[in-house]
Formats: sequence, C-alpha cells, structure tokens
Amino acid sequence: FSVAVGPDAGLNQIADAVRQCLADAGISLERVLGVGMGVPGPVEYAEGRVVAPPIMPGWHGVALRDRLARELGVPVYVDNDANLGALSEHCHGAGRGYANLAYIKVGTGIGCGLILGGQLYRGESGSAGEIGHVTIDENGPPCKCGSYGCLESMAGGPAIALRAQQAIRAGQATSLAAIQPLESITARDVALAAQKGDKLAQQLFAEAGRHIGVALASLANLLNPGLIIIGGGVAQAGRLLLDPIRKTLEQRALQPVAQSTRVVQSVVGRDASALGAVDLALQEVFQSPALITCAAA
Ligand SMILES: [Zn+2]
Repeated sequence: FSVAVGPDAGLNQIADAVRQCLADAGISLERVLGVGMGVPGPVEYAEGRVVAPPIMPGWHGVALRDRLARELGVPVYVDNDANLGALSEHCHGAGRGYANLAYIKVGTGIGCGLILGGQLYRGESGSAGEIGHVTIDENGPPCKCGSYGCLESMAGGPAIALRAQQAIRAGQATSLAAIQPLESITARDVALAAQKGDKLAQQLFAEAGRHIGVALASLANLLNPGLIIIGGGVAQAGRLLLDPIRKTLEQRALQPVAQSTRVVQSVVGRDASALGAVDLALQEVFQSPALITCAAA
C-alpha cells in the first residue's frame, strides 16, 4: 500500500485489506469492536482527520476516521504513527514502567510520540512531537514542509540516501557506487554497506545520528523524559545510528538531563505502530488505560 494513490483509492484498499485479514482469520466483521489506524502525519485526534501531512500530499483534511468507519460499519480510531509507536512501547516494550518517554520513528520521515505523566500527549491540535520539522540548520536543504534544514531533510531515510548519491558524484570512494542507477540507492543500502565496513556509509550514519542527537538534546532539555526509544525502518541499523545519538545527547543536553535520559532501540520493532493501533482501539473501546495496562502485563 502506498499513500501516493491518494485518499479515495487508498481508503478502498485499506477497507479491502481489513476484510481480507478478517477472512483469513475466519472472523466476521460483526465481532470486531473497533479498528485502530496510524498515519505518518499530524492527526486532529478529536476529529479523526489528517492535517497538512508533509509526506502525504493530497490527504490534507481527509476525515479518515469517519470515512473508514462508514465503509466498514465499525468504530475506527486514527492517530499519528509515532504516537502509536510510543503507545505500544509503553504498553508492551522498552517503555513499560516509564511515565515520561519519547518514541522517535526514523524512516522516510522522522516523527515523535510522547508519553507524559503516563498519558499520550497530543498537544492542542494533535501536532505535538513533530520533531522531524525542528530546524537543525537554518541554511540547510529545503524540506517538504516548506522550511529549510529540518531534521527530517537532513537525517531521514531519503536524506541519508541522497547524501550517499551526492558523495559518489563528487568522486568519493565507496562500495555503494556499484549500485546503478545511483538514484535507486536507499538508506537500507547505506546501512548494509556501513555494516560491511564501508567508510563513507559509516560516516553518513554517524552524521545522521549526530543531527538526530542534536534535536533530541533539545527535546530532552525541554521535557526531561526518562527514556528515548529509537524505532522505525532506519533504526534497524542499530548501533550505527544509536551510538552517535547517545554521544551527541550526552555532549549537548544539560548534565542532569543527560544523566536521567536513557536512549534505547525499539523493542516492539517494525510493528510498533500497528500494535499501538490495537492498543489505541482497546483503550477507546474500554475507555480504561488501567485495564489495558493490566491486560498487557
Ligand atoms: Zn520540515
């Protein structure tokens, strides 16, 4: 499924996928209490609506919750995918027992879900945690949001891949040059090359980790979370990304903040947002976070 197909075709595909899943599991739609859904962009939670999502052009203002609920005939709950990642890590993963944590999703975009005081924090309009659009370099590359030098435009998956392509064109030696056409190089290719000892690839991950660390030092100074969890596709690179993040956070955050902030890799892994969508639906259906905490335990 690609968000590029737009909301009309996209919602049909999503509804078909839900029906297919249920058919495969031998469960009728009548037995479903609710459906949880995550999207990679800001969501006005009370309205179940996507708002100006930088990496989902064409979906602005779409009433995802109500349209999918009408299509399926069951209640639907929609939230930002990083918020859902935070929820699932808090319920089942690295964040169990933490009242204050940040879940950072590093993929095509860079998102952040915040649990503050034991509850998901969405902010006034649902846009809290858009750390991907925190400015790292005010003279940096243009970002999809219209600003310049945002974290996402400097350390997201496509940014890492683009930096590799630029370095090869500038004549730097790397095993990545064997991949043709150069435009097909992905952040995953760079991670694999780095793991095999490619110096340029290692340098690009160190750079991306440093940029993320700079943003996280500000986040930590501001909110003092006990735990920062790094998840998302690019985080599969493990210590390649985690080590420079930890080092930069240590150097840049205030000492008491740095000392009280652990940085770990996601435990729930690639399915964090999907599992968080289930947690969200359960919480909303039963209206009791305590019940879910017990169920998870
Ligand atoms: Zn931006």
